[in-house]
Amino acid sequence: MSTIFTQIVEGEIPARIVYEDETTMAFLDANPLAPGHTLVIPKDEYERLNDVPDDVASDLYETIHRLVPAVEDSVDADATTVAFNNGETAGQEVPHVHCHIVPRFEGDGGGPIHAVAGDRPDLADDELDDIAADIESRA
Ligand code: 5GP
Repeated sequence: MSTIFTQIVEGEIPARIVYEDETTMAFLDANPLAPGHTLVIPKDEYERLNDVPDDVASDLYETIHRLVPAVEDSVDADATTVAFNNGETAGQEVPHVHCHIVPRFEGDGGGPIHAVAGDRPDLADDELDDIAADIESRA
């Protein structure tokens, strides 16, 4: 069963498509958090960012980079929050990688990306050193 976003790519369900190239597509979110809320996807179905091949990841970033100023200018936004819910635990509902570009306006009542996490951990310096070393060894 293909995802709802694959169905958009295939033209099986309608969407307000704002950009398309060989490997990526961008369209308006059906339930926008702000005017101009746009989703950028790889056309091929990958559930998480972790699954996206390097070349498609480059294409995806290129499209995000192109769309951010286009979205901001079109709705005269002061800023944008640009983010992925990467995995169900992080709030991802559609299992097809998508980047949210959410226009932000002075006094819109929203928060920074720091607002998405729960309680902040109290980490000692040696724990931070271990985590940094572990990530570095895998990057
Ligand atoms: P997630 O929680 O997976 O990061 O976000 C999924 C997003 O997809 C939501 O913001 C939701 O409004 C949007 N969405 C879900 N179904 C559709 C659809 O059929 N068309 C469009 N354009 N957006 C959708």
